[in-house]
Amino acid sequence: MSKLKNAKSKLLLFILASLILGAILGMIVSSAASEATTAKLIAISDPVGKIFIRLLKMIVMPVIIFTLISGVSSISPKDLGIVGIIILVFYIGTSIISSVFGLVVGNIFKPGLGLDLDLTLATTKEFVKPSFVDTLLATIPTNPFSSFANGDGDVLPTIFFAIFFGISLAFCRDNEKTKENAEIVYRFFDGCTNIIIKVVSWIMYYAPIGVFALIFTVFAQNGPSSLGSLLKVTYTIYIAFAIQLIIVYSLINLAFGINPKKFLNKISEPLFTAFVTRSSGGTLPISMRVVDEKMGINQGIYSFTLPLGATINMNGTAIYLGICSIFIANASNAPLNFDSQLTVVIVSVLAAVGTAGVPGAGSIMLLMVLNSIGLDINSNTNVAAAYGMIVGIDSLLDMGRTALNISGDLCGTAVVAKVTKQMDMTKWE
Ligand code: ASP
Repeated sequence: MSKLKNAKSKLLLFILASLILGAILGMIVSSAASEATTAKLIAISDPVGKIFIRLLKMIVMPVIIFTLISGVSSISPKDLGIVGIIILVFYIGTSIISSVFGLVVGNIFKPGLGLDLDLTLATTKEFVKPSFVDTLLATIPTNPFSSFANGDGDVLPTIFFAIFFGISLAFCRDNEKTKENAEIVYRFFDGCTNIIIKVVSWIMYYAPIGVFALIFTVFAQNGPSSLGSLLKVTYTIYIAFAIQLIIVYSLINLAFGINPKKFLNKISEPLFTAFVTRSSGGTLPISMRVVDEKMGINQGIYSFTLPLGATINMNGTAIYLGICSIFIANASNAPLNFDSQLTVVIVSVLAAVGTAGVPGAGSIMLLMVLNSIGLDINSNTNVAAAYGMIVGIDSLLDMGRTALNISGDLCGTAVVAKVTKQMDMTKWE
């Protein structure tokens, strides 16, 4: 087990190192090599980077279908009750707030603007951004199978169908008559989710090479100017994370009579664990111990709300998806209009629900958000290059978003416990 962890953290280091190496070599080429040599080198790095992009694209649809169906159907309607309803409203509500908030911060800082990726080898397509109403209508698939099969990814109709199917499956699992067969279907999708997460982790072994090639291409074309953009998107995301953690959750806590300062103090251990492990699922045992011992919350509450939160409540991921969409759109010279941003809100909330609580899952979901607003990494090299830049620094961004993801779960759990009077207030004195 510890060997596996070691290998994983080495891989992260490799990805980060390949980003730095790709950037340095790219900058050297951009300033020292002739135009013809630069073009030749890019002609080599371009397909190497595209292999990575194609591998990622390959798994988008299966990831959406498997994770959404198994995630949604894991909630039993029978067990929902008042606690379930409050926590669902809290989780979905804060996910929407986070996604809107991410876009607001993104619009203020405008990361990616001026990066002006202009890859001469790009086969840049004209972006056709659908209107919000058209997007909503197109969300209902007339034939879900053609949506799954569509190479360019009919992402929204696929999400719609997967959620519909997942809810129906949850009801069938609760029904005496259909229970037995539904259980088999549930286990099938749950098993497929485990398998596709394994596939993702194997694809990530190619990430150091893929990221190197993508970043090299960007820097060889654009020189050092890309460095500032990467820095800007990172601090924009972290500013949004900090505001959400310190201000938004504190206001929510205050509204429900929970001391915000003490709350932040009590969650420091799971917060730190999430930051270093980059896994909501992995942080779960620590979160459970903290709410039990330090917050005095009844086990009947947290044994339901925390695992549910680690599965569907990803506030940090929702913020990240919004800001990265703005970054990639700006960097590809296709800034998002209002309708596209509305689409980003809806899709990133759904994507956050479908994001598995494992390291790096959010960066796969980003592909699905990009797809829904017409930014397709297959047909546009600039989008692929900007996406590659994000993947290069993903471990850095994943730390913060995972910490925020579990803070949201803890805040929701505390609120539900307070509202339903299942909190030992002597622990808060
Ligand atoms: N690593 C995150 C988590 O476990 C998910 C993500 O990649 O956004 O919460």
